[in-house]
Amino acid sequence: LFAGAADFLSSAPSVETLPPMRGHEIAFAGRSNVGKSSLVNALTGRNTLARTSHTPGRTQLLNFFDIGGKVTLVDMPGYGYAAVGKAKVEAWTRLIHDYLRGRANLARVYVLIDARHGIKANDAEVLDGLDTAAVSYQIVLTKADALKKSEIEARLAATRASLARRPAAFPEIILTSSRTEEGIADLRASIARLLSE
Ligand code: GDP
Repeated sequence: LFAGAADFLSSAPSVETLPPMRGHEIAFAGRSNVGKSSLVNALTGRNTLARTSHTPGRTQLLNFFDIGGKVTLVDMPGYGYAAVGKAKVEAWTRLIHDYLRGRANLARVYVLIDARHGIKANDAEVLDGLDTAAVSYQIVLTKADALKKSEIEARLAATRASLARRPAAFPEIILTSSRTEEGIADLRASIARLLSE
């Protein structure tokens, strides 16, 4: 799946400019600085696909990438950046809400959570929205390399516990590090399994 080319398709600043639905889509969401660009780059083996040097909170776009002609990867704008004003938060919420509501070909949202911090209040709000919209999602813990083994176990247990009461959450958590490439193969396998269902 990820052996072929990965190409940028388009950016959508609003729901009116979304590309037409075409095959399956998978989306990646997370707080600004969670390591989303790094993960998308590690996943696709392309260092320039998603920019890692962007100013957090500035990119309010849905970015669409074609993965080997088989699936569309959607990089959702990061949320939770402190310096962003109320108007931008509302614009983000509207864009995401409109996208999620109308996207019949969206197979799953991978929600990235920083393994050091766990699920924060604004992550929980996003998960609430996905549960309400009945959009299937799966948690991907990022930056596993920054934690000790015991800390990872505790984080996994706490995250698992908070997912237990969430109806749209896929129970399995994927532990990753873009730095060591830990879990990248697991994430690829998860996506391949999802698309073959
Ligand atoms: P984004 O804002 O979610 O797209 O996050 P970026 O990919 O731009 O990464 C944000 C920061 O986290 C940068 O300083 C990265 O170097 C760092 N980072 C990203 N991935 C990892 C990782 O796997 N491990 C560690 N320790 N740091 C990471």
